[in-house]
Amino acid sequence: GQPVLAVVGRPNVGKSTLVNRILGSRQAVVQDVPGVTRDRVAYDANWRGRQFTLVDTGGWLAKAQGLAAQVAEQAEIAVGLADAVLFVVDARVGATDEDEAVARVLRRAGKPVVLVANKVDDARSEADAQSLWSLGLGEPIMVSAMHGRGSGDMLDLALEAL
Ligand code: GDP
Ligand code: MG
Repeated sequence: GQPVLAVVGRPNVGKSTLVNRILGSRQAVVQDVPGVTRDRVAYDANWRGRQFTLVDTGGWLAKAQGLAAQVAEQAEIAVGLADAVLFVVDARVGATDEDEAVARVLRRAGKPVVLVANKVDDARSEADAQSLWSLGLGEPIMVSAMHGRGSGDMLDLALEAL
């Protein structure tokens, strides 16, 4: 099938907003991705003529206890079914314990990751994003999912990795 790009991160960082930004108005649910459940929704997406499957994550898992364990487990599942990952962090909050738990999972998995510093709505927030280098996943790519700022460059990077 087509390559799979998964969007991971703790709750409220803007994953679903980013997914909607990437999809624009064309939102078609695809049914045939193994491991996609109620908690992980897959969409048909394209960027610059490339077709790919975009997986949004974020449900609550029965097994894992505590928020860090929850988000790490979601990331583990998502990275397992993906060819590349968009790891979304709230640049205005900075890296939390939950973000660090996800980062550990992603560093171990060894798949291509684009570190997305979201909620950089304007130039004033750009300095906040620099602290996210501490996650050990390379350059934080500054994006505003809400306004669309930076999302094209982010997708170029992600598609290079697919
Ligand atoms: P998710 O839980 O990671 O899927 O996060 P959501 O996409 O549901 O967004 C959580 C909250 O962050 C919502 O209130 C969004 O409107 C807000 N949000 C998402 N992206 C941005 C952004 O780029 N800038 C700002 N200021 N708010 C954002
Ligand atoms: Mg969501």
